[in-house]
Amino acid sequence: MSNNREDIIVDLKKYFRQQKELGIEYFYMTPVNRDSGVDEKTSDISDGEAKLNEDTHQMNLLNSTAKKMTLDEISEEIGDCTRCKLHEGRTNIVFGEGNANARLVFVGEGPGRDEDEQGRPFVGRAGKLLTKIVNAMGLQRTDVFICNVVKCRPPENRNPEADEMTTCGQFLTKQLISINPEVIVCLGSIASKYLLNSKGSLGSMRGKFHTYGNSKLLVTYHPAALLRNPNFKKPLWEDMKIVLKELQLPIPGD
Ligand code: SF4
Repeated sequence: MSNNREDIIVDLKKYFRQQKELGIEYFYMTPVNRDSGVDEKTSDISDGEAKLNEDTHQMNLLNSTAKKMTLDEISEEIGDCTRCKLHEGRTNIVFGEGNANARLVFVGEGPGRDEDEQGRPFVGRAGKLLTKIVNAMGLQRTDVFICNVVKCRPPENRNPEADEMTTCGQFLTKQLISINPEVIVCLGSIASKYLLNSKGSLGSMRGKFHTYGNSKLLVTYHPAALLRNPNFKKPLWEDMKIVLKELQLPIPGD
């Protein structure tokens, strides 16, 4: 595919037409420009033609049709994945776990060492803190769904790179379409910037709901940040109160 914008549009129109002929009616897209306050939800093909942009993140999402898969089907599709370089150092794929019909989903950036060893998300020190936060909300881990943008551990716990998030992000998109939660909580700036397609700081993204598909999305601190700086505990709890209010659940302690 050419890098020229006009050629990209022509190629995408052709792609949309082919997909339509295959019976695919909808494409799931994240907001094109969050800063404008304009949120794009599920777009039909003719709308999609009018809303093209050059962002590679959007290009990735074009591959994620709105066909709703079960989590088992998504896991099966991931298989013994070698789609990006993160497969080279992993012990286990960390798919995510929890309630397949969760009203609330937590999304981090990627598995760490403990998660890689156990094949489960958020089970190390930061994970235990996340469990405490979930419990403090009056919930259990089994009530919510917990996952990451990338399913394999980045070496030395480095941040996932853009190409890795773009490649693996298709599975997160499918998970979120499958679960269709009312609220998504993004833990930390990496996952938040990815899901919101934003270059903004965590501070600028916090404190308000964004839209992701059918869900409301709230940005907050990664539990690992709380381990480094306990001053983040109070603002994080304020964020969780916003979530509980949105879900019309009681706020413990209030
Ligand atoms: S991070 Fe995702 S895309 Fe990359 S190898 Fe693992 S499962 Fe596959």
